[in-house]
Amino acid sequence: MLERFLGPRRVRQIHRAARNGTVTFLCLFLTVVVLRGTIGAGKFGTPEQDFNELREHLYSRGRRVEPHRVLEEAQPETESDSQSNNYATFDITKILHDDEPEEKPDPNKPYSLGPKISDWDEQRSEWLKNNPQFPNFIGPNKPRVLLVTGSSPKPCENPVGDHYLLKAIKNKIDYCRLHGIEVFYNMALLDAEMAGFWAKLPLIRKLLLSHPEIEFLWWMDSDAMFTDMAFEVPWERYKDHNFVLHGWNEMVYDQKNWIGLNTGSFLLRNSQWALDILDAWAPMGPKGKVRDEAGKILTRELKDRPVFEADDQSAMVYLLMKEREKWGSKVYLESAYYLHGYWGILVDRYEEMMENYHPGLGDHRWPLVTHFVGCKPCGKFGDYPVERCLRQMDRAYNFGDNQILQMYGFEHKNLGSRRVKRVRNETSNPLEVKDELGLLHPAFKAVKVSTSS
Ligand code: UDP
Ligand code: MN
Repeated sequence: MLERFLGPRRVRQIHRAARNGTVTFLCLFLTVVVLRGTIGAGKFGTPEQDFNELREHLYSRGRRVEPHRVLEEAQPETESDSQSNNYATFDITKILHDDEPEEKPDPNKPYSLGPKISDWDEQRSEWLKNNPQFPNFIGPNKPRVLLVTGSSPKPCENPVGDHYLLKAIKNKIDYCRLHGIEVFYNMALLDAEMAGFWAKLPLIRKLLLSHPEIEFLWWMDSDAMFTDMAFEVPWERYKDHNFVLHGWNEMVYDQKNWIGLNTGSFLLRNSQWALDILDAWAPMGPKGKVRDEAGKILTRELKDRPVFEADDQSAMVYLLMKEREKWGSKVYLESAYYLHGYWGILVDRYEEMMENYHPGLGDHRWPLVTHFVGCKPCGKFGDYPVERCLRQMDRAYNFGDNQILQMYGFEHKNLGSRRVKRVRNETSNPLEVKDELGLLHPAFKAVKVSTSS
């Protein structure tokens, strides 16, 4: 609940401060222990010190020296051997070698996402005219949509993180299959300068330009999951808009609050306008001095923003509030349903939702998306306790997965359980079972077949 009043990042800041305090204390404690060890033991040494010294001699900076190699040659079949067939104990770092250091960008050259393009709308409509087999609308009011997500090229800090990435992409594949949406999962860092949360910018631009048939690109963070499999985006509502984000006009334009919108799940129309706003969005992104200095401006200019390097979300709030005239009319800040939903206010209410409502609503009664902002399951440190994040990510996953499983007559025993139970008896007339949510053959996915020919 603290989040409600302070905002999630604020709470995270407090946690971080507490953690820093613990670290300082630990350092102090270790210093005393080390000093005591050296002064107290002197050069005569304790058994531990002797052991450490011996180890120092045998190992130099982690590299093995002769004695060990002899040991390895003598026992070729041990688990430490590189030919081991044991996955459970294999050390992944053996096959991960860091590539040569990337060349430093010229600090005097202003950053650019790519060559200037100013006639994309003309180029694209010409292409669409010449390729009628790839229409940008696949039905009335049904744009062709590409959902784009991704994660770092490296394995997560803990394999558990990779397991949650797998669950999160399985969840997205399910939603997209049901809704006739294509998926692109990116694991390549296309532009080293735009690492981290800025990596989506060069990627989005590349995909818009390579796929003129895509009408809307839907960016979704890896740590966001669909929790309403039946909700179809009200595409019609956005026919005059190019950029749809979860947020509130007053919070962005009046309060200039850095959480007035969220960039973890948004829709961007393939257009010249999109290329232009990406160009206007990018300048605070290049990592290092630029990103650090821009972070100071954002913290100064935006409400409640903690001190940290420039992030894509703050930069978007800043851009919109500074240049509302230029962009505002094509930006739709949606709050009628959860295009992004902050997990802190949703995950404890899933049982209550199941009691009172049904999928298809998309809003506080049954949220379309639950986004685990700040959890960082793939990283080293998040802003919340790991156990809480992972437990709640499982619950969100199972909550969404129940809607998939019910089509086939199963559901999770409870939201905290991986196990499933049967909720329907098998029948010899499988085509007669009713599919309550209509997800087996959803209308929004139906193809109109021409009767002539
Ligand atoms: N991301 C990526 N490559 C990276 C790091 C992050 O594609 O090397 C993406 C990933 O999808 C992630 C998103 O950037 O979900 C934003 O980061 P995160 O979700 O950790 O930020 P938060 O939502 O917690 O602010
Ligand atoms: Mn996220």
